[in-house]
Amino acid sequence: MKFKKDIIKTGLEKKLLVKYGKKLSEGLDFEIYDALSQTIMEEIGGSWKATEDRYNKGREAFYFSAEYLMGRAFSNNLINLGVYDGVVELLEELNIDINKIESAESDAGLGNGGLGRLAACFIESMATLNLPGTGYGIRYRFGMFRQQFEDGFQVEYPDNWLKYGDPWSLRKDRDKVEIRFNKDESVMAVPYDTPIIGYGTNNINTLRLWQAEPVEELDLGEFNEQNYVEAMREKNEAENISRVLYPNDDTDEGKKLRLKQQYFFTSASLQDIVRKFKLKHGTDFSLLPDFTSIQLNDTHPVVAIPELMRILIDVEGLLWGDAWKIVKKTFAYTNHTILSEALEKWYTELFKQVLPRIYNIIVRIHVQFQELLEEKYPADLERRKRMAIIDEDTNLIHMAWLAIHGSYAVNGVAALHTEILKNAELKDWYELYKGKFQNKTNGVTQRRWLLKSNPELSGLITELIGDNWITDLSELKKLETHVTDENILNRFLDIKNIKKEQLAGFIKGNTGIDVDTDSIFDVQVKRLHEYKRQILNIFHIMDLYNRIKEYPDMKVTPKTYIFGAKAAAGYFRAKGIIKLINEVAKAVNNDPDVDGRIKVVFVENYNISPAELIFPAADISEQISTAGKEASGTGNMKFMMNGAPTLGTLDGANVEIVEEAGIENNFIFGMKVEDIVELKKSGYNPTEVMNETKGLKRVMDQLIDGTYDDGGTGMFKELYDALLVGASWHAPDHYFVLQDFNDYRKVRESIDDAFEDRLGWAKKAWMNISNAGKFTSDRTIAQYAKEIWKIEGKKIK
Ligand SMILES: *Cc1c(COP(=O)(O)O)cnc(C)c1O
Repeated sequence: MKFKKDIIKTGLEKKLLVKYGKKLSEGLDFEIYDALSQTIMEEIGGSWKATEDRYNKGREAFYFSAEYLMGRAFSNNLINLGVYDGVVELLEELNIDINKIESAESDAGLGNGGLGRLAACFIESMATLNLPGTGYGIRYRFGMFRQQFEDGFQVEYPDNWLKYGDPWSLRKDRDKVEIRFNKDESVMAVPYDTPIIGYGTNNINTLRLWQAEPVEELDLGEFNEQNYVEAMREKNEAENISRVLYPNDDTDEGKKLRLKQQYFFTSASLQDIVRKFKLKHGTDFSLLPDFTSIQLNDTHPVVAIPELMRILIDVEGLLWGDAWKIVKKTFAYTNHTILSEALEKWYTELFKQVLPRIYNIIVRIHVQFQELLEEKYPADLERRKRMAIIDEDTNLIHMAWLAIHGSYAVNGVAALHTEILKNAELKDWYELYKGKFQNKTNGVTQRRWLLKSNPELSGLITELIGDNWITDLSELKKLETHVTDENILNRFLDIKNIKKEQLAGFIKGNTGIDVDTDSIFDVQVKRLHEYKRQILNIFHIMDLYNRIKEYPDMKVTPKTYIFGAKAAAGYFRAKGIIKLINEVAKAVNNDPDVDGRIKVVFVENYNISPAELIFPAADISEQISTAGKEASGTGNMKFMMNGAPTLGTLDGANVEIVEEAGIENNFIFGMKVEDIVELKKSGYNPTEVMNETKGLKRVMDQLIDGTYDDGGTGMFKELYDALLVGASWHAPDHYFVLQDFNDYRKVRESIDDAFEDRLGWAKKAWMNISNAGKFTSDRTIAQYAKEIWKIEGKKIK
């Protein structure tokens, strides 16, 4: 977009006056943010419409995701439009601080973590690559909860992100549709469209999020008191459907409202797609797969498969067989996890009650699939049972199975993950549907995670290799020749320091803690989950602290251990780990024997905006999940492009990161997938490992001897038992924390010397940046476009 200063200025003034009745000098930060954003919305209106018209003509990909973790839009949009500098200048002239205007925007936190952020990166890449694609999802009234620590415990508060409105979305009443759950229950789905602005292009894609509302507008005049109360109840029930994001990451909630949410947005989106298809092509639905590819982001939107069957059969009058052929050519499914607790299953009873017609359709798909299996594997009853879409012993509907059977493509999200799917978790399915399986290693958008969040490093990169990297990250490889240039390495270190200073300021405000920016910033930020093993990190800190207490004069390279993580509200053990980290932090940070040499910082309410400060400031990227459990990870990629070596296991995309940047530039430790298979076979005895590993028993004992206080909740004893005794649902230490402890300590301590060699360290960091090209979501999306969606970029004028 061409920056037209006078138009932006006039727009800003007008909006401020009309909407808030204020002159520029009187506007509050939020009001100026709102007026400026609306002005930009008006300026892009023409391109947005032109893009839509263009995409409507041909084949299009639709991304179905229950989550979009967008963060703030303002600066990112200005940057992608190429008007950021112009706006900064204008605001300076008007004596307005752009940072304050930026901060007035709430994060759109409509996602839990990696999966939701991936969806956000993907739609941004689609727009930048001029790909005909639309995102569909839910406009939650309340996003991911706001986390607060009270006495070291996590407490959840509602995230009221729409309190002041959202200038970046447009309500489209004209396109609302009715969603019918069963005979006497239906709601309206009203779309809100957000422009997804590509970098350096006029293409503007759309994210369409649905909001639930009652079918009947309230006509208060008509009501007596009784009806009024009843009507309000109905309104509330309808609105409940899009009220709140389920704050679960990698666990299956299995609740009725969750199923309603899933059906609500997939049905609305399909009705929208079918309506547009009919405008262009009439009712020859055999053409639908020629023009439509629908990507299912995990199993959350998989109910779309039977829903499209319903629309084609019940509404459009197709025969079952014809409809099924169309459906199977329309959907593609992304698997995000092999954790069994995350694989969605629904009790048939509940499903039947909420969605009776959809249930019947699933039953028929299930029966026909069993017939197919019987033909294929007549003697293998066990296999047929394992693959049953409806498990007739447990009465559970297995959504992942429905997804694989009903799609034309199935993909994992990193090379290792896809191999595990093919050879273990989905082996039966791979044998049946070999041709469907593909890998698409995840990526992140460098526009947000480097260009916007690290302008200092971006400036240096552009100075050295030009700015093509902004849309072609493989260009970063050209930086590698500078790895021997001390002047450049020193400039990198200076930039890292600036970012650490900035983060230190944020930490001071967020936690009240002063941190030493010369210390190693060792960072683990991600959802709190046992498989991610934050407990391994804190165990090492507890052990180091014990040794400092024993030998206060020991040499300690100063370190700041930074955590950020939310635990699902009902995940007791994860909340116990948060409390433990906070207790250790309190002890370490206030102990004169430690003398500030190590600090432990737990950033409250980790989400996108803090993340944008954290990644650029990190010296070390902690990626220490149990091998085989982290499907890909994307935080690891954000660290890498900002020059933080990985301290990690060979898990998920870490494998590919090390492949690209060199093992000597990262810190790899712990068991590999094969080692774990072996150890399980030979019998794992965590108690023995604890007793044989120096310092580990002491750390474990401190969980139960009162060294750290869990406020009488029993949380720490529960952590202790999980590792040594197990629980009804798992063997002791099933994520192998104790087994990997010693190796983790060893490699973690090798970092100290490496860090003190400042130029040597900068080299490692620089090699990571230079080889981060693979991990752009542009590459991932180009692969989806070519290998799954079969769509091509179309640039509008
Ligand atoms: C990138 C990101 C994640 C995903 O992090 P992982 O380490 O891959 O689990 C989660 N939350 C936020 C806010 C992110 O930016």
